Amino acid sequence: MLQKNDELTVKIEDMGSSGEGIAKVDGYPLFIKDAIVGDVAEVKVMKVNASYGFARLMKIVTPSADRVQACCPIARKCGGCQLQEMSYEAQLRFKEAKVLNALERIGKVSREDFEYLPIIGMDEPFCYRNKSQFPVGYRKGTKEIISGFYAGRTHDIMETKKCYLGHPKLDEALDAVKSYMRECHVTPYDEATGKGLVRHILVRVGFKTGQIMVCLIINGRKIPQPERLIAILKKIEGMTSISLNVNTEKTNVILGKETLHIFGDGFITDYIGDIKFQISPQSFYQVNPQQTEKLYGKALQFAGLTGKEVVWDLYCGIGTISLFLAKKAKKVLGVEIVPEAIADAKRNAALNNITNAEFFVGKAEEVVPAYYKKHKAEASKETRPDVICVDPPRKGCDEVLLSTMVEMAPEKIVYVSCDPATLARDVKYLTEHGYRLVKAQAVDQFAQSFHVESVVLLSRK
Ligand code: SAH
Repeated sequence: MLQKNDELTVKIEDMGSSGEGIAKVDGYPLFIKDAIVGDVAEVKVMKVNASYGFARLMKIVTPSADRVQACCPIARKCGGCQLQEMSYEAQLRFKEAKVLNALERIGKVSREDFEYLPIIGMDEPFCYRNKSQFPVGYRKGTKEIISGFYAGRTHDIMETKKCYLGHPKLDEALDAVKSYMRECHVTPYDEATGKGLVRHILVRVGFKTGQIMVCLIINGRKIPQPERLIAILKKIEGMTSISLNVNTEKTNVILGKETLHIFGDGFITDYIGDIKFQISPQSFYQVNPQQTEKLYGKALQFAGLTGKEVVWDLYCGIGTISLFLAKKAKKVLGVEIVPEAIADAKRNAALNNITNAEFFVGKAEEVVPAYYKKHKAEASKETRPDVICVDPPRKGCDEVLLSTMVEMAPEKIVYVSCDPATLARDVKYLTEHGYRLVKAQAVDQFAQSFHVESVVLLSRK
């Protein structure tokens, strides 16, 4: 039996769903962060539970054939990336297997009974994020302004000179804000004391338009010499919007309610596919628009629309999928819990001259059953839709919603998911209630991390 502090040499045989290496010691699984499948490593046992334990990677004895040098010097510490030391091909294999495993083991579907399409990877697995949001502070014990991330559960900021996942313009804008702060003696906010002005710096860049937005989240309503900030930032090509977001609360919620625009109209414009979006500092917007386009393109393809269909888009957010679908369907009905997202969805529909999309605010598991109950006697296309599309958060769909979907009996259900385990759980429910899994496809939206998106098509038996 293993004990805490035991040191041993192990071979990593598998990967856990959060990207840890797994070694088996006489059948007992040890989870080892930063180890990858194929490594032989010296490890030290940190924690022993009844059925599994955790160990720390001490030294790699023989590296895995899939091991590569991480390009980011703080990859292990930061925690944003879990797989930087794995080649991108191996990351894709890991993710493809993760989705399939979940479908087979939790979803109880057999590989022979559905089409499993090869994972869609990224052309460029770095520099893909369109948004960065970093806290600013002083380097510990100095008055030097840095930005980075909070180390563990502390108020100390670890410096990130460059994030390899972000578009290079993000760092350029961030550096410009820090140089303004130095020049104009602007203080960073101190989480421990609640003093100081600048809390976070948010930057977004439109990949298709090149437009850039900078928002300083401040503990107050004004900054010294705003004209200097504007002058410095305007040197960056594409600078379109500069604003101040007021957050004077002692909270770890990043954005406050009020935003003051000091340059531009308060938004940038970008496209996913040929759909245009106006993005303000508070708006939700996909961080990897290039892969989102591929993922939602697949969802659209799976829906197989001809122009006559009525489609529900549940968990619709700002309506990205809804608007994609609306161009090919007769009518789309979107449901989303966040009122601001629905306001954005409506605005985006108008911006794209889309008039056949209707949006509802509320929980999908409440709005859809209530709508169905009220209108089912009419037996309209809205209560008997052709397609229902869902894109829930990690916890998946509520069973009340799934059972209503089954009653509404659409020919097709397209399920977009950011968590293979809950996707598989819901696929199991649907396949036990009259549906058949036809196709599944994983799409990598977040290279270097363990996250994987997938989209599946179910059809009525
Ligand atoms: N397809 C969307 C993103 C979906 S992410 C887009 O492209 O914008 C999941 C969404 O579900 C989030 O917008 C979240 O606010 C919403 N949500 C979470 N719980 C919900 C619920 N119970 N009912 C409806 N929407 C919910």
